[in-house]
Amino acid sequence: MAPAELRYDGQTVVVTGAGGGLGRDYAVFFGSRGANVVVNDLGGSFKGEGGGSAAADKVVQEIRAAGGKAVPNYDSVENGEAIIKTAIDNFGRIDVLINNAGILRDVSFKNMKQQDWDLIYKVHVKGAYKCAHAAWPYFRKQKYGRLISTASAAGLFGSFGQTNYSAAKLALVGFTETLAKEGLKYNIHCNVIAPIAASRMTETVMPPDVLAKLKPEWIVPLVAVLTHKSCSETGSIYEAGGGHIAKLRWERSKGALFKPDESLTPGAVAAKWKEIVDFSQPEHPQGPANAMELLESAFKLPSSPK
Ligand code: NAD
Repeated sequence: MAPAELRYDGQTVVVTGAGGGLGRDYAVFFGSRGANVVVNDLGGSFKGEGGGSAAADKVVQEIRAAGGKAVPNYDSVENGEAIIKTAIDNFGRIDVLINNAGILRDVSFKNMKQQDWDLIYKVHVKGAYKCAHAAWPYFRKQKYGRLISTASAAGLFGSFGQTNYSAAKLALVGFTETLAKEGLKYNIHCNVIAPIAASRMTETVMPPDVLAKLKPEWIVPLVAVLTHKSCSETGSIYEAGGGHIAKLRWERSKGALFKPDESLTPGAVAAKWKEIVDFSQPEHPQGPANAMELLESAFKLPSSPK
């Protein structure tokens, strides 16, 4: 890993939803470290209503006033081609994409309307797809790219009143894990973060004393490291908030093996339930690679007692 001052000179960084909150802090950081920055934001409310150019313009002015290079883009992330085109038209390249734009439509599942579900999916999942898909050919061609997508603890663990948001956010984990595999040989590294930070998104659900301990600028260093050329991490999930940064991974119980024949009955599964849910000998799978091995071992077993 590179030393203290990570720089991005000559690189172009696109940050979606950079007109406020976390995205603004990412954009200002990259602008201060030599990058050309595309500040995307459609300027709506945190529920995805309305829009305008003021939010993105303000951040662009801030970066320029500090001596950095930035241009605004006001498209919705659903129109990812236009956002990446802004990078290419103005700076001739794209090196880093931060899928950060997001909105909330919190409502209990009982009261959820189709439009609450669809809008969250469109901004978070389709938006991340459209931006990444537009950047991908450039990343592949130049054999370099860094992609961050933004999940959430709500997606990883569930959160009352957020089925739409949780589903969309966990989708970005699968999206990232697959893109990391597809991008590996092109030096395209893809990671996903689950931040916790004070922003207009969290100010209505967290008390002020907690919010004071969750500054958005404390998420920036993780994103800076993950998007730097020196970082080889890819396909990983990170949590960050309030000064704590950690990596997450899947854990699988050792589980139980059954001979795959007519003896694999509900009763046989129930009899081995303790083994199935026992995490005392955990495995940390990174793919389905050992499935064939397990299958072969299972075939060698005696049938389960009826
Ligand atoms: P925020 O509301 O301050 O920032 C989100 C930005 O995205 C806004 O400026 C908004 O205008 C913009 N945006 C919304 N829809 C857009 C669209 N279709 N196209 C372009 N821009 C759009 O919220 P934040 O807390 O900074 O959130 C940033 C990201 O982090 C989001 O993806 C959010 O879901 C995620 N997140 C935040 C927290 C947290 O604790 N703040 C926790 C988990 C995940």
